[in-house]
Amino acid sequence: MERVITAERCGICEEEKERGIHILHMFICEACERAIVQTEPEQTEYDRFVEKLRDINKPRLYS
Ligand SMILES: [Zn+2]
Repeated sequence: MERVITAERCGICEEEKERGIHILHMFICEACERAIVQTEPEQTEYDRFVEKLRDINKPRLYS
């Protein structure tokens, strides 16, 4: 049986990656996940991540 690997677009680096995790409905690639885990809250990468999460939680009233 053949396993089909599909790439998904990472919500952080916006690159297509085959491996990663899903937080809510956003895909995060392994590299970004690792970066987030290792990043202290006061660092910019974390801020960027939190901002992205806020974006996907925003109700789209004005689309
Ligand atoms: Zn990524």
